[in-house]
Amino acid sequence: MTTDTPPNATFKPNRSLADMDKDSVFHAMTSIADQQANGPVIMASGQGVRIKDHDGTEYIDGMAALWCVNVGYGREEIARAGYETLKNIGFFHTFTAMSNEPIIRLADRLLTVLRDEAGLDHMSRVFFGTSGSDANDTQVKLVRYYNNLRGKPEKKKIIARRGGYHGTTVAAGSLTGIPVYHKAFDIPMPGVLHVAPAHYYRDGLPGETEAAYVDRLIAEIRDVITREGADTIAAFIAEPVMGTGGVMVPPAGYFEQLQALLAAHDILFIADEVITGFGRLGSWFGSGFYGLKPDLLTFAKGVTSGYFPLSGVVVSDKIWAVLRDASPEVGLFAHGYTYSGHPVGGAIALANLDIIARENLVANAADVGPYFKAALKDRLADHPQVGDIRGQGLMIGIEYVADKITKQPLDPHNPASRRILAAAKDEGLIARAMPFGDVNSFSPPLTFSRGDADETVERFVRAVLRVLPL
Ligand code: PLP
Repeated sequence: MTTDTPPNATFKPNRSLADMDKDSVFHAMTSIADQQANGPVIMASGQGVRIKDHDGTEYIDGMAALWCVNVGYGREEIARAGYETLKNIGFFHTFTAMSNEPIIRLADRLLTVLRDEAGLDHMSRVFFGTSGSDANDTQVKLVRYYNNLRGKPEKKKIIARRGGYHGTTVAAGSLTGIPVYHKAFDIPMPGVLHVAPAHYYRDGLPGETEAAYVDRLIAEIRDVITREGADTIAAFIAEPVMGTGGVMVPPAGYFEQLQALLAAHDILFIADEVITGFGRLGSWFGSGFYGLKPDLLTFAKGVTSGYFPLSGVVVSDKIWAVLRDASPEVGLFAHGYTYSGHPVGGAIALANLDIIARENLVANAADVGPYFKAALKDRLADHPQVGDIRGQGLMIGIEYVADKITKQPLDPHNPASRRILAAAKDEGLIARAMPFGDVNSFSPPLTFSRGDADETVERFVRAVLRVLPL
């Protein structure tokens, strides 16, 4: 090395943050080519439903980041809860029966909320993780463990749905039913079976009633169970409302029939409430809203409003009893993560849940969600390329089509939703373009007011008309 060669070959003096990002950050869920060409958007601060980038441009965050900042940005109360716990202990683990007060109180609180607000009085224990993906990996391991312990080692396959999103780790990514997340990663792994999503708008046949459509979906699942053998199928996983797949709201009767079918074949039902938990649908949990009785429930995101990475799995009495009774013989439950039960996450989650309850944010989602959807319909339902505007609470999808009758897609290689997303950003609005169908989505903080909804609709309509002029 000559003396004038900098020690780090990428070292360049006076680089902008954007250039540093391009030279150093390997982004999640990003086209490397796009990031290298266009650089990042650097977010700097947030307050309420608004977020500001490093250049001072303000946006309405129509997505609550990734469907998760339920209480909105800039909550001092949460910052203080985190600070106090960081100061007191910083970190300690929960292996080998170690525990900490915030996480004990959080587990107790979650079971109470599930019982009182969602009717889930059969839930027994909470296992903590740090992301929706690792929690769903825990689910995969738990259903295997459960069936091994009760002498059913063949009962291992999991049914998931096309369009479902359950994360990106090897196991959770395999449950995910969206091709882009599998491409070049050699997943899904064996033992995962994908069936049709519940999306009457797109998949109902001409003249088919919603009830007949549900019967057809259930018949497909019954056929899969018959073909594979119920003694080989351990579980079925579903989001109460499919999020990343395009905000698919289940048709009436679907979950009722599904749960009866699963119960008849001793197949566990896993509710993935990573998005739908903590108020998004205008109800504390999707399970309560749709009358689900899951054997296992996954949560993440809204439990801390994203202020700390925290997730978990709630197991029912039925599962817990098998694990508990086998424990003396099995020994160690040899699964867990360093940060399972992080005390700072516990404290932050408790502060977050206090805010959701005190400010009646679940009721706000139940009020503003339908108002927002109606305002979008009022302005866009007659647009010839807007096929469907749907959603539940503050979880809304807008699907584009070339033709309203045939529902043919516009240009699948250059989806309108992606172009509208970019136009919306220019209007100071963050939305999302979904990877499974030509759909934009909204999932704003649950503090979203009717005024915020009006402003969002104005900006969004301008973006839609720029991309799809009348
Ligand atoms: N499950 C659902 C329903 C999700 O929407 C997500 C993320 O969006 C996940 C699981 C994965 O969560 P994470 O990104 O925290 O791993």
